[in-house]
Amino acid sequence: MTTPPLAVDWLMSAYDATWHAFPTAQLADPRRTFYQAICDHSVPARHAERTAPRVFCPACLVLYGAQIPDDQRWQMDG
Ligand SMILES: [Zn+2]
Repeated sequence: MTTPPLAVDWLMSAYDATWHAFPTAQLADPRRTFYQAICDHSVPARHAERTAPRVFCPACLVLYGAQIPDDQRWQMDG
């Protein structure tokens, strides 16, 4: 058994106009008043905007990439 990659949604933080990766489980919880991205950036729920990403947070990209098992990342070598 391998752990599936973490499910995330990319939302823009109004604080830095950058799209961070937020765990989908957090976004699905209506009781949350703020969200915490996988890079530890936190933003109040009302300041997280769902729009098409333009500027990705580099830290989130690296951390999200690290969640993907090597055998999925390098399938083309197969
Ligand atoms: Zn981030």
